[in-house]
Amino acid sequence: MGQPEPSFMNQVQVYRPRCSRCGAPTTLARIEPAAKPGHDLRTFECTVCNNADMLEVAYRMDAAE
Ligand SMILES: [Zn+2]
Repeated sequence: MGQPEPSFMNQVQVYRPRCSRCGAPTTLARIEPAAKPGHDLRTFECTVCNNADMLEVAYRMDAAE
């Protein structure tokens, strides 16, 4: 409580890809572990067309291929 968030969490909040269906900005709905080490599986929801995009995102640069 009262601790500043780690910088990578701020990036998670800022990073919002466009909806693959209609191109509107999406909202990060959930994050879960991905199969690849150092990666998150992130679900971005579009409030315009109710599309959900799931992306594998590397959160550790040294784990990215
Ligand atoms: Zn959309």
